[in-house]
Amino acid sequence: MALDGQEVELLAIGAGPANLALAIALEELAPGEVAGNTLLVEQHDSVVWQRGMLLPWTQSQVSFLKDLVTLRNPRSKFSFINYLHSVGRLDEFINLGTFTPYRQEISGYLQWVADELSEVRVAYGRRCEGIVPRRGAGGKVTGWLARFSDGSEVAARDLVIGAGRDARIPAEFAGLPPERVIHSAEYSARIAGLDPAGLKRITVIGGAQSAAELLWAVHQGFPGAETTLVMRSIGLKNYESSKFTNEIYYTSFIDEFHSAPPEAREQLLREMHLSNYAGLAPAMLDTLYRQRYLERLGGAERLKIVTMTEITATRMEGSEIVLSMRDRKTGKISESRCDLVLLGTGFEGAMPRLVQELADELGLAEITVDRHYRLDVPQVTDGASCYLQGVNEATHGISDSLLSVLAGRSSEIVSDLLLHRGQDGRQTRLLADVA
Ligand SMILES: Cc1cc2nc3c(=O)[nH]c(=O)nc-3n(C[C@H](O)[C@H](O)[C@H](O)COP(=O)(O)OP(=O)(O)OC[C@H]3O[C@@H](n4cnc5c(N)ncnc54)[C@H](O)[C@@H]3O)c2cc1C
Repeated sequence: MALDGQEVELLAIGAGPANLALAIALEELAPGEVAGNTLLVEQHDSVVWQRGMLLPWTQSQVSFLKDLVTLRNPRSKFSFINYLHSVGRLDEFINLGTFTPYRQEISGYLQWVADELSEVRVAYGRRCEGIVPRRGAGGKVTGWLARFSDGSEVAARDLVIGAGRDARIPAEFAGLPPERVIHSAEYSARIAGLDPAGLKRITVIGGAQSAAELLWAVHQGFPGAETTLVMRSIGLKNYESSKFTNEIYYTSFIDEFHSAPPEAREQLLREMHLSNYAGLAPAMLDTLYRQRYLERLGGAERLKIVTMTEITATRMEGSEIVLSMRDRKTGKISESRCDLVLLGTGFEGAMPRLVQELADELGLAEITVDRHYRLDVPQVTDGASCYLQGVNEATHGISDSLLSVLAGRSSEIVSDLLLHRGQDGRQTRLLADVA
């Protein structure tokens, strides 16, 4: 699909779950002028959920009923159940008896959704390199112009950025040769190209689910290697799974979080931290513990976990990576040598680079969105909205980056979009039709 010079009503950057949920909501709630003039652009050649960590044995931590649409419209043809039905796996999935599908199955569902869209167009293989506002009379923002990796430019009246967060690479690792450091977001793509003979000692940094998955993946994938996890905290922890606190992931809780004072928001985020990605799925935790136990029993420990320890510096010595490590209990510094470092260090809490650069273009001192995820831009005409998806934990709660709220959030964004375009009456009717 040629992109250059296109003018669309709505441009959505990133074909992840957030913008795919939005695409469904557009087709169901705003068919025709808006959905039919929406372009969704993805940097890769296909849709893959958690591309870097799509390990065959990993499972989603969220119920399949919290798919891209069911909580908003249980009769939608875009449900996960309809996907299973259409690929002939419904019986088997039911028989498996789980609420949390394998990650690869969610990924297949997302690609199927993208393929099934009939109005919203999806363009693959273009990375958005930058977005600038278009200005009209008096300098008012009237729309957006996005530039892509193939040199093409697309103009849009409204914009939604759903491109995820930037990988967090701690400064201590920035000086190592790039081929010796792999962040979890790139793990699957890069690990396959490495020669196992050159990997005798692999060190994983981090203490949460991604780090634990990296540790298990290399332990299984490189049977000749010693694999070590280095973490700052006291040990790997199960994720918190109380049904009481899990109610905070309801879409209906977003209003309460959003209107809460800063101290209450801070408490909610702090207390819920372990219910999200900071904790491990119980099965993963048990697997790792039993493996280490068995290895110690046999006298040959290949899976090691070093706790209460931080990396203070790194350097190369010949072909070896040298990690300087500080024991947080004693303050003592020691050194450890390895051939490869894997970073399970998560994602930056700050706004992604793409959004920050747009904010600079707009002259914003601070990046804030309103309750309906619309970027606060002074001097904007009413029909030129920019929405940010998945980066608003601080104001919209811990569920903001998860699948849990996508069905509801996408219809909120569509409603707000139509409202600002002066199409609110039509929207109310459509929402009523679906309810
Ligand atoms: C390993 C891992 C496991 C997870 N497991 C769960 C889970 O079990 N349940 C859950 O609810 N959440 C989970 N999450 C949280 C995850 O963030 C959400 O599930 C969900 O993927 C967020 O969707 P998104 O569309 O906002 O972002 P993403 O999934 O990150 O999708 C962003 C999309 O934008 C594309 N993109 C990025 N930049 C550009 C650009 N410049 N131009 C064009 N395209 C671009 C990317 O290629 C990607 O396709 C997990 C996260 C990780 C890292």
